[in-house]
Amino acid sequence: MRIILLGPPGVGKGTQASRLSQALDIPTISTVDLLREAVIERTSLGRAAKMMMDVGQMVSDEIILGVIRDRLLVGDTKKGFIIDGFPRNMAQAEALDELLNKLGQPVDLVIQINLHIDKLMQRLLGRRFCVSCGMVYNLFIAPPSMDENCDECGGRLRQRADDTEELLGTRLRVYEFQTVPVVDFYRERGDLREIQGEGSVDSVFASANKVTEETRNQLDERTRLIRTAVKRKQAKEKEEKSAKLSSMFERSAKKAAEKKAAAKKATAKKATAKKATAKKATAKKATAKKATAKKATAKKATAKKATAKKKVVKKKTHKKKAAAPRRR
Ligand code: AMP
Repeated sequence: MRIILLGPPGVGKGTQASRLSQALDIPTISTVDLLREAVIERTSLGRAAKMMMDVGQMVSDEIILGVIRDRLLVGDTKKGFIIDGFPRNMAQAEALDELLNKLGQPVDLVIQINLHIDKLMQRLLGRRFCVSCGMVYNLFIAPPSMDENCDECGGRLRQRADDTEELLGTRLRVYEFQTVPVVDFYRERGDLREIQGEGSVDSVFASANKVTEETRNQLDERTRLIRTAVKRKQAKEKEEKSAKLSSMFERSAKKAAEKKAAAKKATAKKATAKKATAKKATAKKATAKKATAKKATAKKATAKKATAKKKVVKKKTHKKKAAAPRRR
């Protein structure tokens, strides 16, 4: 699951984040811890961050976004994560959205822990941490058995530099003006669940766990619905594909039949044309034969006529000869 924990300073986000992290077996990404590590290592980023942290002001978006991006790219976040202390303004919220979408890991749940300002002041002013092991105490709510030392390791207890009354006012104002719009943004989007930060750590954790469980169930239901929708879509696509294939097949079969018919027609046409040509040739031949016969007949007739004429002439000549007086 991918969770963001929001709430004013001192509300107990860090404590609840580590409890949820244990319960869900996913890492916590705390901007404050990441910044403090950089401060301790005295990197250039750490020095820039310290200047702002010391006066209760927000570290620049550029620095914090770089820190978050690098942390989200570590492999352990693939199974989910809890982000504590980020985003704290709208620019950070939008940048986080863009980054998580790019990574294909959108936020599943945003938990806002609310607490009355008087309680917040009490918690922040009473907060002490062990310089050796980091254990956190509260002089009013969860005091150590020895006033100035850690119960776990005996290390010295110290107040955070920005937990003074003067800086608390600044931090709360920064929260009011810059982070409350982020809470509204997630509320409008339907990702926000609000819980009360009052009561024991266990009771607040029970509330946080409850909303996490509910969201997980909703997500399971949503996942189930999405899977069903995906399956339906896939089946529809398969059906459409096979319909397309069979219509393609039908079309190509039709085309082949048409081609065959056209070829048959062409062959028939050719045969007809051949027949016609042969007929024409036969007719021509017959005509020629007839003409030759006619010519021969005519020639014969002419010859006959000529012979007849010749006979007549011969006869006439003979008659004439016979009629003519004989010379003595
Ligand atoms: P907190 O203990 O949560 O109030 O954080 C302590 C300080 O860390 C803040 O006053 C800021 O200087 C710095 N910080 C932590 N998270 C952020 C953030 N998301 N953006 C800017 N500054 C931050």
